[in-house]
Amino acid sequence: MKSAALSYAGYEEPHFLEACTLCSKPLGHNSDIFMYRGNTPFCSQECRQEQIENDEARERRWKKVSSSSSSSKKSTENSKKSATVQTGTLVASN
Ligand SMILES: [Zn+2]
Repeated sequence: MKSAALSYAGYEEPHFLEACTLCSKPLGHNSDIFMYRGNTPFCSQECRQEQIENDEARERRWKKVSSSSSSSKKSTENSKKSATVQTGTLVASN
């Protein structure tokens, strides 16, 4: 378990277990660490709970945005974008 955690820490989170994700309070070896989503450390249950609530609020907003009005808006933006790109390419190759 320990070696697995070590190699994991080196690969994507340099600050793994060093400080609370929410309030940046340093996490000592003797202090309690509250984990969330496997690799996100917090100094207290309160900090972790706040992060969870933030995430949930954000996810709710994303779901709302992506499920309802944005699908038509997105496709409009996409076609606009590709039209711009095509024009730019034509001008450049002339
Ligand atoms: Zn904290």
